[in-house]
Amino acid sequence: MKYVIIRDDDTNTLTPIECLETLYRPFLDKGLPVCLATIPNVRSDVCLPSGPREGFLVASKGAAARAYPIGENAKLVHYLKDNPGYQIVQHGYHHEFVGTQTEFDHNNRADIIRRLDLGTRYLLEAGFEKPKTFVAPYDRVTPVGYRELARRFEIISTGWFERARLPRSWWPGLVMRKLRKQPHWRHQGVSLLSHPGCLLSYHRPYKTMLEEIRRSVESRNLTVLVTHWWEFFRDGENDLPFIQVLHETAAFLAAQKDLKVIRFSDIVEQNIPLN
Ligand SMILES: [Zn+2]
Repeated sequence: MKYVIIRDDDTNTLTPIECLETLYRPFLDKGLPVCLATIPNVRSDVCLPSGPREGFLVASKGAAARAYPIGENAKLVHYLKDNPGYQIVQHGYHHEFVGTQTEFDHNNRADIIRRLDLGTRYLLEAGFEKPKTFVAPYDRVTPVGYRELARRFEIISTGWFERARLPRSWWPGLVMRKLRKQPHWRHQGVSLLSHPGCLLSYHRPYKTMLEEIRRSVESRNLTVLVTHWWEFFRDGENDLPFIQVLHETAAFLAAQKDLKVIRFSDIVEQNIPLN
């Protein structure tokens, strides 16, 4: 059996329900769960270091510059809870830059703890389950951050693992993983999942996207497929060819008899083998 996790990043208080519904109705109707890496308290004035506003703010032009707790958008929260195919996992806190660094790309333990715990609190206050999984904004975590994550979460999903970003005591596990050529690994009960890049991205050619996904899924036991909802609506209009590829992906995944789309939490609850 092969396993796939669909991870869509950057759902936040200012995300239109219609965007998620347009993208994921075919998944939900086929019984394929979708994990939404959700920003607990998004800031509406996040700009990339190069200048432009963050893509996940595509639908929020004119919103006052402040933080927006996820629970503030009651309609969105209801929609997410009404559709149990969605699983909410924690994606940072404000998803912002502090100076030129991303919000977890530093070793200020007190600040990291504050962001992690407030983020979880906002998700709980909105009525979601306590998240077992953490996704770092921009894939940037430091050794201090990893230690604090391991105290709070059972699963960490990121693009890749580099030695300099991990606590020293985690290095032997990282070496073993490299020797065994394994994409995922465990450290003291925490499942550490990498992913093969954002295969569902407008930066990649649409024509070969599904084939790339198919190859990727077949090449490992568990594949985390990452996308970002706002990329499908980035110019304020629906990118129909891109949406079509996503829906073809749903059809492909549903048609495979030896493949199961799971949630992050299934890894621990159903003891899914990582590799
Ligand atoms: Zn993000």
